[in-house]
Amino acid sequence: MTAEQVALLPGAGGPPRATVNKIIPFSCVDGPGNRTAVFLQGCNFDCRYCHNPETIQTCVHCGACVPYCKPGALSIMAGRVQYDIKKCVLCDECFHHCPHGSSPRTREMTPAQVMDEVRRNLPFIRGVTVSGGECTRWRDFLVGFLTLAKAEGLGTLLDSNGSHDFSADSELIAVTDGVMLDVKAWTPEDHVRVTGWDNALVRKNLRWLAEQHKLPEVRTVIVPELFDCEQTVRNVCEVLWETGNLNTRYKIICYRPMGVREVYKGLKSPEQAELQRLAGIARGYGLTDVVII
Ligand code: SF4
Ligand code: SF4
Repeated sequence: MTAEQVALLPGAGGPPRATVNKIIPFSCVDGPGNRTAVFLQGCNFDCRYCHNPETIQTCVHCGACVPYCKPGALSIMAGRVQYDIKKCVLCDECFHHCPHGSSPRTREMTPAQVMDEVRRNLPFIRGVTVSGGECTRWRDFLVGFLTLAKAEGLGTLLDSNGSHDFSADSELIAVTDGVMLDVKAWTPEDHVRVTGWDNALVRKNLRWLAEQHKLPEVRTVIVPELFDCEQTVRNVCEVLWETGNLNTRYKIICYRPMGVREVYKGLKSPEQAELQRLAGIARGYGLTDVVII
């Protein structure tokens, strides 16, 4: 292991770091305009319909996936799995064989290292978006990275499940232009059924971010048999209406089973007519930017 790799090990001190799952240089679906999207590993929610379940758990470096990597992109060194991005052919065999629901295709990176990769894209992007997993689990990294991005004149967005108390984190909010917020269900009971977690903070964040006008987008994945979708749409729209955020984009997302864990694949996708009906309800509140995807 090189000195640089040792310095990046968790607990080694130095600058904050995050486990980076992937960096997409150019994305036009992670916020307005062309952006570099950074995906961080690990999520505190356990959504039944998660289509990237390998991003939920943190790798425990057991090494079980290494023999399945035929191109030799994985190895074990000093008890930790090493990932060589140059050898990887993206066959996904590693995380399909991970008994812990994780992925070895990650890198421990500091804000400066991620910014070095973003800098190559500067002429072509207007901002960065940090997603996950749940990016706010890496709060100190976020403050560092978004500060560097702002210094380059880039816009800064977070994609969050709403489990971080943004109202109590002025340092993070000062370098965040906006949060694209998932509202997965409205009642606590429904939210627990979808994610395994209570949603008091999600609801608090929805209103608080709306009041700060730092809420460019809200998303709800529609799964009629799992939670009360109409109630969720109506309550989101009420908050946007009450806070004067009628131009916030509301994405009504069709649940699709691709990538979903076998145990949850039985969930049914909604009919187009149902998605249109929910979008119509949202537009009825005066929302100007309702999209079905
Ligand atoms: S990705 Fe999974 S199988 Fe591979 S080392 Fe990490 S925990 Fe073990
Ligand atoms: S996706 Fe995983 S198994 Fe496939 S080449 Fe990359 S690291 Fe190896």
